[in-house]
Amino acid sequence: MEKTTDAANRFVREYLALAEKSEMTRGDGRFSSPGMVRLFAVIYERLTEGAKTANLTAILDPAGAAERHFLDSVIPLPVLERAGAIRDGSTLVDVGCGAGFPSLPIAAAAAGGFPRLSVTALDSTAKKTRHAENAARAAGLDGVAVVTARAEEAGSPRGGLRERFDVSTARAVAALPVLLELTAPLVRVGGFVTAYKGRDDETENAAGAAKALGLRLSEKISYSLPSGDKRTFLIYEKTASTPPKYPRQYAKITSSPIK
Ligand code: SAM
Repeated sequence: MEKTTDAANRFVREYLALAEKSEMTRGDGRFSSPGMVRLFAVIYERLTEGAKTANLTAILDPAGAAERHFLDSVIPLPVLERAGAIRDGSTLVDVGCGAGFPSLPIAAAAAGGFPRLSVTALDSTAKKTRHAENAARAAGLDGVAVVTARAEEAGSPRGGLRERFDVSTARAVAALPVLLELTAPLVRVGGFVTAYKGRDDETENAAGAAKALGLRLSEKISYSLPSGDKRTFLIYEKTASTPPKYPRQYAKITSSPIK
């Protein structure tokens, strides 16, 4: 089996080649900044180590992880900057962060010249948040806060994190109507709720949920990763406070998504 350091070196080579190849990142030197890539390598090493004892992700090979975890996580940053959703000091909550994606690469991106965000990585599974916490510390990402909680509880009127953040992210967590109900309560009015999505356009199906939750779709960006996988990145602006009846209990959110 390949040694961890050999795999991490190969990961770095693969990541840099992909950043050069992607239509979304080519020509923006921040995506290949040595400081950021060094932190990516530490997070990658921790991921492969952590995956030996916990079920963190199926994608561990250097090329796959470089593209589907790291590049995929940071590609939307310039889009978020242009939309005015992030700047130095913005607070970001990553809902359902799992092993730390996109939150940890986003936090590391400050070393490449992207905005210095105050990042909170939230997941309901303690095994995953423990890993995210260890990986953040190993990379020296001291500004990252890791929270073990259910999003719908943290964002409830008594949950402590309601309307606390400037922006939310979420990748591979739930269908869009469900995801909006989990994330919108955590974001302040005037902030932004975002979603990393695949090929399908889920926005029409989520139009009722967006309206009920005080969200307005402001950007829908479609692009491909270098391998050809299709992605859609969505930005909603939060224009009104979340009605107190949301979020509902998880079973209700999933069994009767807002129409
Ligand atoms: N975002 C990570 C990624 O892209 O690699 C992890 C994706 S994983 C498929 C989905 C994660 O969402 C799981 O770690 C799960 O525990 C978390 N999750 C699902 N529903 C949640 C909820 N209501 N509150 C908090 N975390 C949740």
